[in-house]
Amino acid sequence: MTSSTKVATVPSHRPLRSPRAALKSITALLLGSLLTTQAHAFGAAGHAAIGDIGMGLLKGSRAETELKRVLGTTAMRDAAVWADCVKSIDPSNDFKYANAGRYPECAVLESDPAELARMGDYVRRNDMDCGPKPGEESCHKQYHYTNPPLQSGRYVAGAPGTGPQDLVLGINATVAVLRGGASPAPFRFGNEREALLVLLHLLGDLHQPLHVGSLYLDGEGKVVDPGTGAIDPATHTVGGNAITLMPTGNLHAYWDNAPARLSAAELQALNDVARALPASPGPSADWTVAWASDTVRVTAQVFDGMTFSPRAQTLRGSRWIATLPADYDARSLALTRAQLAKGGARLAQLLQSIWP
Ligand SMILES: [Zn+2]
Repeated sequence: MTSSTKVATVPSHRPLRSPRAALKSITALLLGSLLTTQAHAFGAAGHAAIGDIGMGLLKGSRAETELKRVLGTTAMRDAAVWADCVKSIDPSNDFKYANAGRYPECAVLESDPAELARMGDYVRRNDMDCGPKPGEESCHKQYHYTNPPLQSGRYVAGAPGTGPQDLVLGINATVAVLRGGASPAPFRFGNEREALLVLLHLLGDLHQPLHVGSLYLDGEGKVVDPGTGAIDPATHTVGGNAITLMPTGNLHAYWDNAPARLSAAELQALNDVARALPASPGPSADWTVAWASDTVRVTAQVFDGMTFSPRAQTLRGSRWIATLPADYDARSLALTRAQLAKGGARLAQLLQSIWP
């Protein structure tokens, strides 16, 4: 089993804070081909859209009342990106906030010293407890993705590409806390507000295909199916971060930014699409895995018709270069609309199961 990461980041400005951190940094440098930085996942637009659709479906329900009680004065737009904004908390600088002013979507959170203290407290508890392997990032950053091979067509906890601190188990851990239980290790959610903030965000990531299904490529750019065997780290495309789109950019960012390319009218129309979706069947405890499996199948569509160059050294490290099929823009926006509608509908259904 591998718990390889979509993003392995050891910022060069971060001072080494322990021999373990030093080892981690050195190994990360050796694994330079896997290193990359990540824009804020699914963009603020995608997270906000899913939150807004979910809120629309919950109008007048007890779940809406409870959600507002727990969030207090925090608006949905800010709540939905909280878990991305906490990535700017710097463990090497006493868990203070770095990157002030860099992410506009974090501005409201940044302006509140009490919120920054809560963010630091969260990262303190969710930094190293999962025991990141060399080259892996801080635990809470790993909560945002999982890597099952897209050929598997489903998510199975413990199977290759998944990990004990991945997106699916993270969502289930937030739900456990919101139902009044303890936070399952290695997740350390401190209270229901923290659990809700993380849930609102991760439900969005669960619908960004490149946060869930993973494509593996060999050095020649041919698709690899790891099957049920161990995954060769050299084949890891890091959620599309290691796949370059010419002239600039990478495939992960392309999909993160897709919701921002939808018009206000297109986003508005998703409310009706979400309302018309059938409810997920079966017990609520099974939904996260079913939804992740659905997204793994969507990830296969993300790569449909795409071809890749052999892996080559570029200014940004070792990368494959993708050639997209002619209709890719339209196809990707259609998939994005469908994913946002599903995300909103599922968020509402999950919150209603917590607060019936
Ligand atoms: Zn995220």
